[in-house]
Amino acid sequence: MKKIIFLSLFLVGGLHVKSLFVKYTIYKKWDSHHFKKNENPELKAGAAFRVLTPNPLLPVSGGIGTPKPAHEKKGDLFARALVLEKGSVRIALVSVDNLGWTSILGDRSRKLIKGIAPENILIGATHTHSAPDAYAFPDENGKTGADLKYLDWCTHQIADAVNEAISKLEPAAIKTAVAEAKGKISYNYYADDLYDPRCGVIQAIATSGLNKNKPIATLVNYAIHPEVIGNDRGILSPDLCGPLYARIESKVGGIALFMNSAQGGMVTADNRLAGGGEANDYEECTRIGNLLADEALRIISGAPVQNEPSLFCTSKMIRFPVESLIMKYILNNTPLKSPYASNDSISTRLNLVNIGSAQILTIPGEALPNIGYYVKRHMHTSQPFLFGLTNDAFGYMLTKVDFASFKKYEYISRTSLGELTGEIYMEQALQLINENPSAESAGH
Ligand SMILES: [Zn+2]
Repeated sequence: MKKIIFLSLFLVGGLHVKSLFVKYTIYKKWDSHHFKKNENPELKAGAAFRVLTPNPLLPVSGGIGTPKPAHEKKGDLFARALVLEKGSVRIALVSVDNLGWTSILGDRSRKLIKGIAPENILIGATHTHSAPDAYAFPDENGKTGADLKYLDWCTHQIADAVNEAISKLEPAAIKTAVAEAKGKISYNYYADDLYDPRCGVIQAIATSGLNKNKPIATLVNYAIHPEVIGNDRGILSPDLCGPLYARIESKVGGIALFMNSAQGGMVTADNRLAGGGEANDYEECTRIGNLLADEALRIISGAPVQNEPSLFCTSKMIRFPVESLIMKYILNNTPLKSPYASNDSISTRLNLVNIGSAQILTIPGEALPNIGYYVKRHMHTSQPFLFGLTNDAFGYMLTKVDFASFKKYEYISRTSLGELTGEIYMEQALQLINENPSAESAGH
């Protein structure tokens, strides 16, 4: 900043500077600094993870209600972070293996992260239904089964993962792609075909050093409920996300991340058995996780390398009315009370990010797939990414016409903030998209 001010003084009063030589060297110094660091800075990427598996195991939660005891674990729970930097812009994309991760917990990590603006740290939950309760749901007596000490430990682990990713920042290129993931992965439990099969993939690739041309991180964005195991089998697990990470990392190296999408009402893992019933074990998690990993790698394999991608991040706070009695009760009685909640409304941060030709928009809850389609259609990119359950996880988000409509929607309407949640989200999201730069055009 000082140098820029000095240069403007120099330009205004250039003729009065005593030595032409001094002027020249100062200009050259500024010149090289300016062009290397500011006008065309290189992209840098770094990734890291931390294990969030509690030891000893804790009860697991699949939604509102008392968490159920876990006697064994299948796979580990993780926090996984990808940090990207270009010039003065630095962002963190973080995934947490949990049902939902509120901004109350997210903000604790944000405070511990050095060198990234808090509003540029996107923290999303994978939505596994077999992890400890992070909402601290109150029961009818106002008591919670959540382990607040464990949750606070997690916030430190998450910050550590991001701080380590920052320390590992290295020159990188990226590949981005969005295409249909084929095979038996997701379906809509309420109406088989009403789901979005598109899978978005962002891969950061090292451009120098020992790992040149190898992935630093591969991020998969797809709508699915990781509830193959659920919370009533006595098992703690990342569900299908665990095998997804392992498969990607064994095939291409680097660190794998999973960000959920618009999976509300009720886009879930397709674990249906041919003869009726469902497969509910870790083998089925492995089948689906492997298949999604293979599809993601297939989708990204042919994508062009973007050597000088743009990096842009903005955000704004938005406010939702809280009409649902259940949601009011939770928000008022949880020991993890949000500083952003009043008696009848709550606010949250909405992020918009451009990474080369990809554009990412966050959803602070579980948007229904029709809301996902609508928002994606209006995003300024041919590669739309929706990060569901990111920055907050306020339950289901329905359009006002879907709200309290079909009998099948009774549960998701009750566990939604209110009739206008989806409408306000769409309006605010489109405004954020329209007020900000588009992603670059793909395939240039
Ligand atoms: Zn859900």
